[in-house]
This record gives sequence, structure tokens and C-alpha cells, in this order.
Amino acid sequence: MAKVIKKNTKAAKRKTSASANTPKKFVYFFGNGKADGNRTMKDTLGGKGAGLAEMTNAGLPVPPGFTISTDACNIYYANKAKLPENIETEMVAALRKLEKTAGAQLGSEEKPLLVSVRSGAKFSMPGMMDTILNLGLNDKTVEGLKAWTGNGRFAFDSYRRFIQMFGSVVLEIPKSAFEHEFQSVKHARKAALDTDLDEAALREVVAKYKKVVRDNTRRDFPQDPMEQLRGARNAVFRSWNNARAKEYRRIYDIPDSIGTAVNVQMMVFGNTGDRSGTGVGFTRNPATGAKEFFGEFLINAQGEDVVAGIRTPQPISELERVMPKAYKQLREITTRLERNYKDIQDFEFTIQDETLYMLQTRSGKRTGYAAVVIATDLVKEKLVTPKEALLLVDPEALSQLLAPGFDAKEWKQHETVTRGLPASPGAACGKAVFTADTAVEWTNRGEPVILVRRETVPDDIHGMWVAQGVLTATGGMTSHAAVVGRQMGKPSIVGAGELRIDEHGRSFTVKGKTVKEGDYVAFDGLTGEVKLAKVASQPSEILQVVTGKMKPADSPIYQRFSQLLEWTDKFRRLGVRANADQPDQAELAYAFGARGIGLCRTEHMFFGEGRIPIVQRMILADNEADRRAALNELLPMQRDDFYGVFKAMKGTAVTIRTIDPPLHEFLPKREELMVEIATMEAKGQKGRGLEEKRTLLGRVEQLHEFNPMLGHRGVRLGITYPEITEMQTRAIIEAACRLNKEGLKVVPEIMIPLVGDVRELRDQKAIVERVADEVMKQQGVKIKYLIGTMIEVPRGALTADEVATEAQFFSFGTNDLTQMTFGFSRDDVGKFLRIYQDKKILEKDPFATFDAAGTGQLVAMGVEKGRRARPDLKVGICGEHGGDPSSIHFFHKVGLDYVSCSPYRVPVARLAAAQAALSVKVGD
Ligand code: PEP
Ligand code: MG
Repeated sequence: MAKVIKKNTKAAKRKTSASANTPKKFVYFFGNGKADGNRTMKDTLGGKGAGLAEMTNAGLPVPPGFTISTDACNIYYANKAKLPENIETEMVAALRKLEKTAGAQLGSEEKPLLVSVRSGAKFSMPGMMDTILNLGLNDKTVEGLKAWTGNGRFAFDSYRRFIQMFGSVVLEIPKSAFEHEFQSVKHARKAALDTDLDEAALREVVAKYKKVVRDNTRRDFPQDPMEQLRGARNAVFRSWNNARAKEYRRIYDIPDSIGTAVNVQMMVFGNTGDRSGTGVGFTRNPATGAKEFFGEFLINAQGEDVVAGIRTPQPISELERVMPKAYKQLREITTRLERNYKDIQDFEFTIQDETLYMLQTRSGKRTGYAAVVIATDLVKEKLVTPKEALLLVDPEALSQLLAPGFDAKEWKQHETVTRGLPASPGAACGKAVFTADTAVEWTNRGEPVILVRRETVPDDIHGMWVAQGVLTATGGMTSHAAVVGRQMGKPSIVGAGELRIDEHGRSFTVKGKTVKEGDYVAFDGLTGEVKLAKVASQPSEILQVVTGKMKPADSPIYQRFSQLLEWTDKFRRLGVRANADQPDQAELAYAFGARGIGLCRTEHMFFGEGRIPIVQRMILADNEADRRAALNELLPMQRDDFYGVFKAMKGTAVTIRTIDPPLHEFLPKREELMVEIATMEAKGQKGRGLEEKRTLLGRVEQLHEFNPMLGHRGVRLGITYPEITEMQTRAIIEAACRLNKEGLKVVPEIMIPLVGDVRELRDQKAIVERVADEVMKQQGVKIKYLIGTMIEVPRGALTADEVATEAQFFSFGTNDLTQMTFGFSRDDVGKFLRIYQDKKILEKDPFATFDAAGTGQLVAMGVEKGRRARPDLKVGICGEHGGDPSSIHFFHKVGLDYVSCSPYRVPVARLAAAQAALSVKVGD
């Protein structure tokens, strides 16, 4: 789901303290066709206040009022829940102006002014904070209202609503206490609907409500309208910090420090009779993006009736039938608003005796699908330019479009049993299985499965591939399951720590429920929610086109999607490459618009069927000859893979990294071997089988590492076993030579991982150059290739000037760089990350959103030092952050040449790169 544009918390704090010291405006009037504020002032007026000001300035029918700024809210909190005298005075002055404009006075018995008091923060937080309507009513003004309007039923209906809202919001009396009384009157009078109650009945309700207030507060309901106004205003400020508002801000990453504004506005009434009503709507359909007027309304009602769902609203098309004039005006106004704001609008209105009033307008929240449809339609309608259209789409919306989805209604019906880290988006549903082999077996017999593992290892890759989704109890956003899941476009949730998995017993428990092998599990990889149910899902249409299962001409959404992405290419400076290890992944990446591979993890190529035993033989070999024999078997396989990847990328750059696995990932588990040997021994088995197992265990123990992520991996492996680098270089250059002979020029970029010292690189470079020369001579072909390095060990960044003397390119491996800068294990961070985030020690997962403030210094330094030593140094990033929009803004700023991400993130990266070039952050 789209998150909001980030606001710098420190800046918000600075703003508050500055405003406490310098005289400044806190109350902004709007009315009579003119407002003190405008739409650009959301920071100060909140979204609602800015919209009201803008609509007033545009001459639209907006009831007059004033906005008390978000600064006042922060001062209220800083000042022990009190506003200083100067703000009180400003508010009273604005109130007097409002009374003059309205021709009515707060507390007047002849012409009583009634107001609404509503919250409105910079970012919309629907329903999270409080609202009070009909303020200004008391025992006397209610009679005045009756006399003025000639409608006693309406006057007392408004008064009972006010007492109830004020009672619950300001006086904190449980709503149920009022509801109980209301129902008892309805019951006694045999009224089916609220609207069936007449004036006498409503007078009785008011009397009962006043008693509820007295019983609960030991005070009479406040009759002084100024006391009512101050109480309501402060309650709205307080509601900024109620539990649900805080939770909402946590989920959507809205800073706690920005505060809410309060809007005090003359009431207009949708409850004066059948010629009145109230409603909400959108200028387009927010779910599908279709250009259709969309909304709901209620006759003879006030706003809270629509929101609370007490009565079922009617579709807005009905309004055309019952009040054609007001409907026509509403259409005209909202069309104008959309043209003015150049975006879909979400609006609120009230009709009082057939006169239309606008109460709110703001950019409408929409699904990813709708975002693409609306942006492309607005260009077609010439309302926005392609450049403006790009800023209307949150990059994450594009990944929503690629993911299979659940049927929303069905999804909501089931309970969420736990949440994990949303590693790879998409809806997944299937039968729980606990081993990769079972996943394959069950899939082959036509059963959809979810692979549930404590953690996943390369051995599981075949199971991951066939499963509908992967769910693990441990791991962080860059753990193996997460990286591989994203790369495959496989819905994945990792680090779901509440799952108690019994892999041997083939079951797990969560929230006291036990799920056995074969029971259905469903999860949403976009939100991290897990449910225990069978829920239907559908594959994404765009993916069907990209993989050739559907023609582009048959898919309007694909056409829009690719149009939008073509526009991004006109504006972005950053290149977008993909992390892909297989020809089919490369093809997909190319189809999504990747122009180059930024990282081909060659160790992933060893996961292929039948290859693991050869790799194991290579690792377990205790002499060079055996190792070379195993490598010779791998050579043709690697060469074919490289050939396929080069070909799929049609001559664009392909960066191939020499092997970088923590060795333990490829070996049988030590504990499992021990159990096997013990079992064989107990059964009295002897001979070669047992001996082989013992030898294997001995070697596994020799290779055992306490900290494999900092162990014998990356360049260290190439240095200790040079024959691996030799074989890989040979495979790369032979594949490139073959393509060259076939007429496709490719320029391989050979990349050495985990370099922390230039001498490591020098060692490997010598091997690569020697073997490349040899192969080219043998083949009789000369090809161009580059040698570069990953910068992922902090020392590599710190000495980038030295490293660049040997490297023709750098690629920042921000997964390892983050791991080593924080000292957090990539694979174990899931255990404590949530707590760090809850305690606000970390705002974000640094493995998902790049830590610009800390680790970013190493990147900036690496770029600067590297380019100083070698001005034409090519610099990219291939850690998981390469597909994260807000990280991409940082990489653009520090001057990288490209980002590289999983194939499925390529569209997101293209859009984020364009937005970064246009200096506008959309979503997060
Ligand atoms: C990295 O460390 O960022 C990287 C891309 O390498 P890997 O994830 O394979 O360690
Ligand atoms: Mg790495």
C-alpha cells in the first residue's frame, strides 16, 4: 500500500520551536471568496484546511470558517495541554469574523451560529481522529434554531447528536451509554428508523442524554458555547495521540511530531429534511481508475451517518434523479477541482435545502491499478503532461500490478494469525508443506503448496520454485529466502517469528492453532499478513503479457503500464539493470526494461538440478586434482548459462560475479550427518556407505565455520582455490567468444566479490587476465571485457582510491555493506528488528531501505575516492536496495551510474529513478 511522502522530523521540530519564539499567525480564516491560506500550505493547515482554503479562493460554495494551525497543536502539547493567550485571542478574532460572515452568533438565541470542529493533519488519516458537529447548541439556542428554521425536529435531532459527540469525544463517556438511551426511546415509540423519531421523541432523547452526562461527569452538560469550543478544539488536539492514530502513523510512517490542525467551520445541515443530504465521492473510480463519477450519499442525514454505516447510503447516481440541480452543480465543481489539482479528487459535500456546499477535497487514495490508469488517462485528456503523470504514481503501485492478488472481500473474512516481514509481494495460497521435496512432489500431482521453513537454504531452491509462496520463521529482508523470493517474483514472507515450526513433525503452531502438512495457508507478501484458510487468487495480467502468454494488444493495462515506463526513460539519469542468474530471468528483466545485468550470482547457477552434488564434490575435495575434475564438469554448464544470459540481454552489459557462497550453504548439515551415522551404526551397518559418510562428516567439520558470513567466501575463496576463478573466467570468455562468432558483440564485466584490499583484487585480476588471454587465443577471437569489484566490505570503500587503480568498475553490495557497517547479521536480524523499530531505535529495516546517514557515507566516499583515482570508473549498486524507491533517490544523489535489482523490481526502479531525477519523492 502506498505510504506517504516523508517529512523530516527534525525539520518539523525546528519549525515548532521557532514558532514558539517569534510572533506568527496561528489561525487562518476562509470565507467570502477569500482565504488566508492556500493549497500549498498543508504543513501548516493540514490537508483539509489547505483544501478548504483553496476551494474558497476558487469561489466554490464552502461554508466559512477558520483553521487553527498544526503549530498550535505542537504548542498545545509542549505547553502542558494549554494554548497561550495570543492563540486564544487570535481564535476569538477569527470567530467574530466568522459570525459576521455567517450573519449569526455563537450562543445567540435568535440566530445561533453552529460550527463543526474537525481534525485535519498534513496526511489524511481517515477516521483516526475526532470530529464534533453542531457545536454551539444548548438549551436556549436549540429553541432559537427551531424558531429560526421552523423545524423543531431538525433542531432537536442536531442537539442530541451534539451531546452524544461532545459527550464521547470531549467528556470521554462511552458511546454505548448514549446508544442505549437512544435505542430505548426508539423501542418505546416503535420507531424502525432514526428518522421516524419526531420532535417530542428527540426532546426526550436530549433529556436522557443530559442525564447520561450528569451521571458520568457529575456536571451538567456545558451550556457555554465558548467552553464547548475550547473543549472540542483541545479534544481534537488530544485525538492526535489516541491509540489508533498512533498505530496508523506507525504503519504509514507518518512522523508523530507534525501534529494536526483544527478546522472550525459554519455548520450546514444535511438533516433538515428530504431536500437535504450529505455524501462523499471520487471524481474517478479509486479501485479501477475508470473515469466515472463515484460515490455515495444519504438523504436527510449528517456526515457521521455515512461514515458510521448506520444507514446504507445510496449510489451517487441516485442523486441525479432526486436532486438534479445539485447533482449537476456537484459534477461541475468536482470536474473543476480535478482540473485544478490535476489529480483524482476525493470530496465531501452537504446539500441543505437543495443548496450544495463543499466540505472537503483532496487527492484520492487509489489502488496500484487505478494509479496507472488514472495517470495515463490524465495525459490522454491533456490534463497533465507525461512528466506530471509520472509524479502521480507511487513506484510501489507498479509492483502491486505484477503481483497475483486475492479476492479482497474473501480475504477480509479470515483472521490474520501473524505477520512477518513482507519480503516479496503477491498473494499466495496453498497447502502447507515442510520440505522442498514434498513441495515438488505435491506440485507434480497438481496441488498448490506453501513451503513453510524455519529458514531456507540453497537446497530448497527447487521447492521454492514450484511453491505458490515461501513462508519462513527466521530471516530478514535480505535473507536467502527473501532475496531468492524477490528474484523469482515468488510471494514470500520471512521472519514470521511467532510460527513454531516442527519440521520433523511436519506441522507448525501459531496463536494456539496447529497447522499440519496439507492444511491450507494463505498470505499476502505485500503486507506480511498470514491466514489459515483457502483463499482464491489470480495471476497478474501484466506478467502474462511479459512472459508471452497474452498479446499486448489484448491487455489495455499492459499498454498503459508500458507507456508510463517509456515516459520514465525520458527523465531518468540512472541506468536500470537487473540481478539475474538464469537466461529466463534475464529475458524477463529485459522485457521489463532492464538494460543490463548488474549482478549475476554464479553460485546461484550451481543450485540447478543435478549440480549440487558436483559442487559438493568440488568443495569437499582435499586436493587440487579432484577439485579440478569437479570444476571441469561444471564448466560446460556455466558456459551454457552465460551464453543464455548474454543472448537474452541482447548485447547490453552483463556483470558476472565470481563465486561467493558461504561454503556451509552447499554442504550437508553437520547435525543431520551425525544422526545418519549414528543410525547406521545402531543398525549394525558397515562398509563403504558408512565410511563415505564418516569422511564426509570429517570434511564438513573441517569446513565448519562459526561465522560463515564473515568466513571463507567471496574473493577469499578465489584466492585459496584459484582454479575456481580460472574455470569461471574460461566459461565467461568462451561464451562471449561463441556469441561474437555468431555476430552478437558482448562486453562481459567480470566482478570480484568482497574485496577489502586492493591486493586481493590484484591477485584475482592476474588470473582472469591470464585465462582470458588464453581462451581468446584458443578461440581466435578478441573480445573486450572489464574487470571490476564489489564494494561491500567497509575497508573496500575506505580505500576505494587504491582499489580503483585496479578496478574498471565498482558495484556497491549494500547487503553486505549494511551487514558489516551495522554489525547486524543479515540472516539473524529478524529476531530483534521489530523491537528496534517499536522502540524507535531504527525507523526502518536498513536491509530494505538504505541507511543513507551511516552506510551512505561509505558509498559517497567510495564513489568520490574511486572516481578521483579513475575518472571514468563505472559505478552501480546491486544490493537489494537497488529496487527500493527511497534508496534510489539516494543513489541518484551520490551520482551512481545505475541501480540493479531483481527483474520484478525493474519497473519500480525505472519510475523511482525518473522521480529522483525530477527531485520529487512519491510514496516511500
Ligand atoms: C550484496 O552484498 O549487496 C550483494 C549484492 O551480494 P550478496 O547479496 O550476494 O552477498
Ligand atoms: Mg555480498
